[in-house]
Amino acid sequence: MRPALRLSGLHKRYRRGLWGRPDAVPALDGVDLVVQPGEILGLAGESGSGKTTLARVALGLIRPDAGQVEVLGQPIHQLRGAELDRFRRRVQPIFQEAEAHLDPGLSVRRILAQTLAIHRPGEAAPPLLTEVLERVGLGDRADAFVDQLSGGERRRVGVARVLLCRPELVIADEPTAGLDAARKHEILELLLCSEVPGRATLLISHDLPLLAGVATRLAVMLGGRVVEHLPIELLGHVPHHPFTQALLVASGARSRPEPETSGPRPRSVERSVGCPWVGACPEQQAECSAQRPPLAERSPGHEVACHALSPPPSLIR
Ligand code: SF4
Repeated sequence: MRPALRLSGLHKRYRRGLWGRPDAVPALDGVDLVVQPGEILGLAGESGSGKTTLARVALGLIRPDAGQVEVLGQPIHQLRGAELDRFRRRVQPIFQEAEAHLDPGLSVRRILAQTLAIHRPGEAAPPLLTEVLERVGLGDRADAFVDQLSGGERRRVGVARVLLCRPELVIADEPTAGLDAARKHEILELLLCSEVPGRATLLISHDLPLLAGVATRLAVMLGGRVVEHLPIELLGHVPHHPFTQALLVASGARSRPEPETSGPRPRSVERSVGCPWVGACPEQQAECSAQRPPLAERSPGHEVACHALSPPPSLIR
Protein backbone atom coordinates (compact mmCIF):
# COMPACT_ATOMS: atom_id res chain seq x y z
CA MET A 1 0.00 0.00 0.00
CA ARG A 2 1.33 3.45 -0.92
CA PRO A 3 1.85 5.56 2.23
CA ALA A 4 -0.06 8.83 2.53
CA LEU A 5 3.11 10.43 3.88
CA ARG A 6 6.68 9.14 3.85
CA LEU A 7 9.52 11.13 5.43
CA SER A 8 12.96 9.66 4.86
CA GLY A 9 16.22 10.77 6.42
CA LEU A 10 15.11 14.35 7.13
CA HIS A 11 17.71 16.80 8.39
CA LYS A 12 17.15 20.50 9.02
CA ARG A 13 19.18 23.19 10.78
CA TYR A 14 18.02 26.78 11.00
CA ARG A 15 20.36 29.73 10.47
CA ARG A 16 20.43 32.94 12.49
CA GLY A 17 20.13 35.83 10.05
CA LEU A 18 20.77 35.85 6.31
CA TRP A 19 24.45 34.92 6.48
CA GLY A 20 24.31 33.35 9.88
CA ARG A 21 25.91 30.06 10.76
CA PRO A 22 23.62 27.06 11.10
CA ASP A 23 22.35 26.43 14.61
CA ALA A 24 24.46 23.99 16.57
CA VAL A 25 21.33 22.05 17.38
CA PRO A 26 19.44 20.49 14.47
CA ALA A 27 15.66 20.96 14.31
CA LEU A 28 15.45 17.63 12.50
CA ASP A 29 18.21 15.10 12.91
CA GLY A 30 17.55 12.07 10.69
CA VAL A 31 13.79 11.58 10.89
CA ASP A 32 12.07 8.65 9.16
CA LEU A 33 8.30 8.45 9.50
CA VAL A 34 5.43 6.90 7.55
CA VAL A 35 1.71 7.61 7.79
CA GLN A 36 -0.46 5.00 6.12
CA PRO A 37 -3.88 5.67 4.55
CA GLY A 38 -6.65 5.42 7.14
CA GLU A 39 -4.45 5.86 10.18
CA ILE A 40 -4.02 8.64 12.73
CA LEU A 41 -0.38 8.96 13.67
CA GLY A 42 0.09 10.93 16.88
CA LEU A 43 3.37 12.84 17.14
CA ALA A 44 4.29 13.82 20.71
CA GLY A 45 7.18 15.78 22.18
CA GLU A 46 8.12 18.93 24.04
CA SER A 47 8.23 22.41 22.52
CA GLY A 48 11.40 22.67 20.46
CA SER A 49 11.64 18.93 19.78
CA GLY A 50 11.17 19.44 16.03
CA LYS A 51 7.47 18.63 15.67
CA THR A 52 6.45 21.89 13.98
CA THR A 53 9.49 21.86 11.69
CA LEU A 54 8.54 18.34 10.66
CA ALA A 55 4.96 19.48 9.88
CA ARG A 56 6.22 22.40 7.79
CA VAL A 57 8.68 20.23 5.89
CA ALA A 58 5.93 17.64 5.27
CA LEU A 59 3.69 20.38 3.87
CA GLY A 60 6.42 21.68 1.58
CA LEU A 61 6.54 25.03 3.40
CA ILE A 62 10.25 24.70 4.18
CA ARG A 63 12.93 22.62 2.52
CA PRO A 64 14.92 20.10 4.49
CA ASP A 65 18.73 20.25 4.26
CA ALA A 66 18.64 16.56 3.37
CA GLY A 67 16.08 13.82 3.02
CA GLN A 68 12.94 13.09 1.05
CA VAL A 69 9.27 13.95 1.52
CA GLU A 70 6.71 11.93 -0.39
CA VAL A 71 3.07 12.89 -0.04
CA LEU A 72 0.45 10.63 -1.63
CA GLY A 73 3.20 9.02 -3.65
CA GLN A 74 4.76 12.25 -4.95
CA PRO A 75 8.06 13.88 -3.93
CA ILE A 76 6.66 17.29 -2.99
CA HIS A 77 9.79 19.40 -3.34
CA GLN A 78 9.87 18.59 -7.03
CA LEU A 79 6.25 19.63 -7.69
CA ARG A 80 5.59 22.75 -9.75
CA GLY A 81 2.59 24.56 -11.27
CA ALA A 82 -0.54 22.49 -11.76
CA GLU A 83 0.93 19.47 -9.99
CA LEU A 84 1.60 21.59 -6.91
CA ASP A 85 -1.96 22.98 -7.01
CA ARG A 86 -3.34 19.44 -7.20
CA PHE A 87 -1.19 18.44 -4.22
CA ARG A 88 -2.50 21.37 -2.20
CA ARG A 89 -6.05 20.30 -2.88
CA ARG A 90 -5.40 16.82 -1.49
CA VAL A 91 -3.61 17.86 1.70
CA GLN A 92 -4.97 20.20 4.36
CA PRO A 93 -3.00 21.72 7.25
CA ILE A 94 -4.33 23.00 10.56
CA PHE A 95 -1.97 25.22 12.51
CA GLN A 96 -1.93 26.26 16.14
CA GLU A 97 -1.62 29.92 15.17
CA ALA A 98 -4.63 29.73 12.88
CA GLU A 99 -4.83 33.51 12.45
CA ALA A 100 -1.54 33.57 10.54
CA HIS A 101 -3.20 31.54 7.79
CA LEU A 102 -6.53 33.37 7.62
CA ASP A 103 -7.04 36.59 5.64
CA PRO A 104 -7.91 39.26 8.24
CA GLY A 105 -9.83 41.26 5.64
CA LEU A 106 -12.39 38.52 5.04
CA SER A 107 -15.37 37.28 6.99
CA VAL A 108 -15.65 33.63 7.98
CA ARG A 109 -18.21 33.12 5.23
CA ARG A 110 -15.93 34.63 2.55
CA ILE A 111 -12.94 32.58 3.71
CA LEU A 112 -14.93 29.37 3.47
CA ALA A 113 -16.54 30.40 0.18
CA GLN A 114 -13.04 30.83 -1.29
CA THR A 115 -12.05 27.40 -0.02
CA LEU A 116 -15.13 25.88 -1.59
CA ALA A 117 -14.57 27.62 -4.92
CA ILE A 118 -11.02 26.21 -5.10
CA HIS A 119 -11.73 22.69 -3.88
CA ARG A 120 -15.26 22.00 -5.06
CA PRO A 121 -15.93 24.34 -7.98
CA GLY A 122 -19.42 24.21 -9.36
CA GLU A 123 -21.07 23.01 -6.15
CA ALA A 124 -23.87 25.12 -4.67
CA ALA A 125 -22.04 27.21 -2.09
CA PRO A 126 -24.77 28.66 0.17
CA PRO A 127 -26.29 25.35 1.42
CA LEU A 128 -22.87 23.74 1.88
CA LEU A 129 -21.52 26.73 3.77
CA THR A 130 -24.57 26.91 6.03
CA GLU A 131 -24.28 23.21 6.80
CA VAL A 132 -20.57 23.31 7.58
CA LEU A 133 -20.85 26.50 9.67
CA GLU A 134 -23.51 24.81 11.80
CA ARG A 135 -21.40 21.67 12.19
CA VAL A 136 -18.41 23.57 13.53
CA GLY A 137 -20.54 25.77 15.78
CA LEU A 138 -19.96 29.00 13.83
CA GLY A 139 -23.50 29.40 12.52
CA ASP A 140 -23.88 32.76 14.26
CA ARG A 141 -20.31 33.93 13.47
CA ALA A 142 -20.44 33.69 9.67
CA ASP A 143 -20.10 37.45 9.19
CA ALA A 144 -17.38 37.96 11.82
CA PHE A 145 -13.87 38.91 10.70
CA VAL A 146 -10.76 37.02 11.78
CA ASP A 147 -9.75 39.55 14.47
CA GLN A 148 -13.22 39.28 15.99
CA LEU A 149 -12.84 35.53 16.54
CA SER A 150 -11.48 33.79 19.62
CA GLY A 151 -8.58 31.34 19.29
CA GLY A 152 -11.01 28.42 19.47
CA GLU A 153 -13.24 29.94 16.77
CA ARG A 154 -10.25 30.42 14.45
CA ARG A 155 -9.36 26.76 14.93
CA ARG A 156 -12.96 25.93 14.01
CA VAL A 157 -12.56 27.82 10.73
CA GLY A 158 -9.58 25.53 10.02
CA VAL A 159 -11.70 22.48 10.80
CA ALA A 160 -14.48 23.83 8.55
CA ARG A 161 -11.92 24.03 5.75
CA VAL A 162 -11.02 20.38 6.28
CA LEU A 163 -14.70 19.41 6.13
CA LEU A 164 -15.15 21.38 2.91
CA CYS A 165 -11.93 20.27 1.22
CA ARG A 166 -12.27 16.55 1.96
CA PRO A 167 -8.46 16.08 1.85
CA GLU A 168 -6.77 12.68 1.73
CA LEU A 169 -4.14 13.79 4.26
CA VAL A 170 -4.54 16.18 7.21
CA ILE A 171 -1.50 17.55 9.02
CA ALA A 172 -2.67 19.15 12.24
CA ASP A 173 -0.13 20.93 14.46
CA GLU A 174 -1.44 21.45 18.01
CA PRO A 175 -5.03 21.94 16.78
CA THR A 176 -6.40 22.00 20.33
CA ALA A 177 -3.68 23.95 22.18
CA GLY A 178 -5.08 26.52 24.59
CA LEU A 179 -8.63 25.15 24.47
CA ASP A 180 -10.52 23.82 27.47
CA ALA A 181 -11.21 20.09 27.71
CA ALA A 182 -14.74 20.25 26.29
CA ARG A 183 -13.66 22.34 23.29
CA LYS A 184 -10.66 20.07 22.63
CA HIS A 185 -13.00 17.14 22.44
CA GLU A 186 -15.38 18.91 20.06
CA ILE A 187 -12.59 20.06 17.73
CA LEU A 188 -11.02 16.59 17.59
CA GLU A 189 -14.32 14.89 16.98
CA LEU A 190 -14.98 17.17 14.02
CA LEU A 191 -11.45 16.93 12.71
CA LEU A 192 -11.23 13.16 12.87
CA CYS A 193 -14.72 12.28 11.66
CA SER A 194 -13.45 11.34 8.24
CA GLU A 195 -15.84 11.56 5.34
CA VAL A 196 -13.04 10.49 3.01
CA PRO A 197 -12.36 6.74 3.00
CA GLY A 198 -8.74 6.10 3.86
CA ARG A 199 -7.96 9.62 5.04
CA ALA A 200 -4.64 9.77 6.88
CA THR A 201 -3.95 12.19 9.73
CA LEU A 202 -0.70 13.34 11.28
CA LEU A 203 -1.82 14.77 14.61
CA ILE A 204 0.89 16.73 16.43
CA SER A 205 0.49 17.56 20.11
CA HIS A 206 2.43 17.84 23.35
CA ASP A 207 -0.67 16.36 25.04
CA LEU A 208 0.08 12.65 25.35
CA PRO A 209 -3.29 11.62 26.89
CA LEU A 210 -5.08 13.41 24.07
CA LEU A 211 -3.06 11.51 21.45
CA ALA A 212 -3.50 8.23 23.33
CA GLY A 213 -7.26 8.68 23.07
CA VAL A 214 -7.47 9.08 19.30
CA ALA A 215 -4.29 7.94 17.53
CA THR A 216 -3.67 4.51 16.06
CA ARG A 217 0.14 4.82 16.37
CA LEU A 218 2.39 7.13 18.32
CA ALA A 219 5.81 8.60 17.55
CA VAL A 220 7.73 10.51 20.21
CA MET A 221 10.22 13.22 19.21
CA LEU A 222 13.16 14.51 21.23
CA GLY A 223 15.96 16.76 20.04
CA GLY A 224 14.91 16.50 16.37
CA ARG A 225 14.75 12.69 16.38
CA VAL A 226 12.04 10.09 16.70
CA VAL A 227 13.05 8.20 19.85
CA GLU A 228 10.09 5.86 20.14
CA HIS A 229 7.44 4.59 17.79
CA LEU A 230 4.66 2.15 18.66
CA PRO A 231 1.06 1.02 18.14
CA ILE A 232 -1.07 3.02 20.59
CA GLU A 233 -2.36 -0.09 22.35
CA LEU A 234 1.17 -0.78 23.61
CA LEU A 235 1.45 2.61 25.33
CA GLY A 236 1.85 2.01 29.04
CA HIS A 237 2.30 -1.76 28.58
CA VAL A 238 5.90 -2.09 27.38
CA PRO A 239 9.27 -0.74 28.57
CA HIS A 240 9.39 2.79 27.19
CA HIS A 241 12.15 5.16 26.19
CA PRO A 242 12.99 7.08 29.40
CA PHE A 243 11.74 10.30 27.80
CA THR A 244 8.36 8.73 26.90
CA GLN A 245 8.27 7.37 30.43
CA ALA A 246 8.83 10.89 31.77
CA LEU A 247 6.02 12.23 29.53
CA LEU A 248 3.70 9.53 30.84
CA VAL A 249 4.59 10.41 34.42
CA ALA A 250 4.21 14.15 33.76
CA SER A 251 0.78 13.58 32.18
CA GLY A 252 -0.39 11.54 35.16
CA ALA A 253 -0.93 8.49 32.96
CA ARG A 254 1.67 6.54 34.90
CA SER A 255 2.82 6.79 38.51
CA ARG A 256 6.43 7.68 39.10
CA PRO A 257 8.47 4.55 39.79
CA GLU A 258 10.90 4.86 42.72
CA PRO A 259 13.76 5.38 42.89
CA GLU A 260 14.86 5.05 39.25
CA THR A 261 12.97 7.96 37.65
CA SER A 262 13.00 10.37 40.56
CA GLY A 263 15.66 12.47 38.83
CA PRO A 264 15.29 15.79 37.04
CA ARG A 265 12.00 16.86 35.52
CA PRO A 266 11.57 16.16 31.79
CA ARG A 267 13.75 18.41 29.68
CA SER A 268 15.75 17.82 26.55
CA VAL A 269 19.47 18.51 26.45
CA GLU A 270 20.64 20.20 23.26
CA ARG A 271 23.31 18.12 21.63
CA SER A 272 23.64 16.44 18.25
CA VAL A 273 26.07 13.73 19.30
CA GLY A 274 24.91 10.97 21.57
CA CYS A 275 21.42 10.92 23.03
CA PRO A 276 19.50 14.20 23.37
CA TRP A 277 18.24 13.11 26.81
CA VAL A 278 21.75 12.93 28.32
CA GLY A 279 21.90 14.97 31.50
CA ALA A 280 18.25 14.44 32.35
CA CYS A 281 17.95 10.69 31.96
CA PRO A 282 17.85 8.61 35.12
CA GLU A 283 19.07 5.56 33.19
CA GLN A 284 22.06 7.22 31.55
CA GLN A 285 24.89 4.88 30.58
CA ALA A 286 28.55 5.43 29.74
CA GLU A 287 28.02 5.42 25.94
CA CYS A 288 25.01 7.79 25.98
CA SER A 289 27.09 10.97 25.56
CA ALA A 290 29.22 9.71 22.69
CA GLN A 291 27.10 7.31 20.66
CA ARG A 292 23.80 7.99 19.00
CA PRO A 293 21.35 5.25 20.02
CA PRO A 294 19.85 3.63 16.92
CA LEU A 295 16.08 3.37 16.51
CA ALA A 296 15.69 -0.37 16.84
CA GLU A 297 12.78 -2.77 16.98
CA ARG A 298 12.08 -4.34 20.38
CA SER A 299 8.85 -6.08 19.40
CA PRO A 300 6.62 -6.01 16.29
CA GLY A 301 5.87 -2.37 15.49
CA HIS A 302 7.65 -1.05 18.60
CA GLU A 303 10.92 0.84 18.01
CA VAL A 304 13.03 2.59 20.64
CA ALA A 305 16.27 4.57 20.40
CA CYS A 306 17.92 4.04 23.78
CA HIS A 307 21.15 2.36 24.90
CA ALA A 308 19.45 1.12 28.06
CA LEU A 309 16.85 -0.74 25.99
CA SER A 310 19.18 -2.27 23.43
CA PRO A 311 17.61 -5.02 21.33
CA PRO A 312 19.51 -8.07 20.08
CA PRO A 313 22.19 -6.93 17.53
CA SER A 314 20.31 -8.80 14.75
CA LEU A 315 17.37 -6.35 15.09
CA ILE A 316 19.42 -3.10 14.92
CA ARG A 317 19.03 -1.31 11.63
S1 SF4 B 1 20.27 6.51 25.35
FE1 SF4 B 1 21.06 6.79 27.41
S2 SF4 B 1 20.59 8.93 27.98
FE2 SF4 B 1 19.36 8.37 26.20
S3 SF4 B 1 17.42 7.72 27.02
FE3 SF4 B 1 18.64 5.88 26.75
S4 SF4 B 1 19.72 5.56 28.67
FE4 SF4 B 1 18.90 7.62 28.70
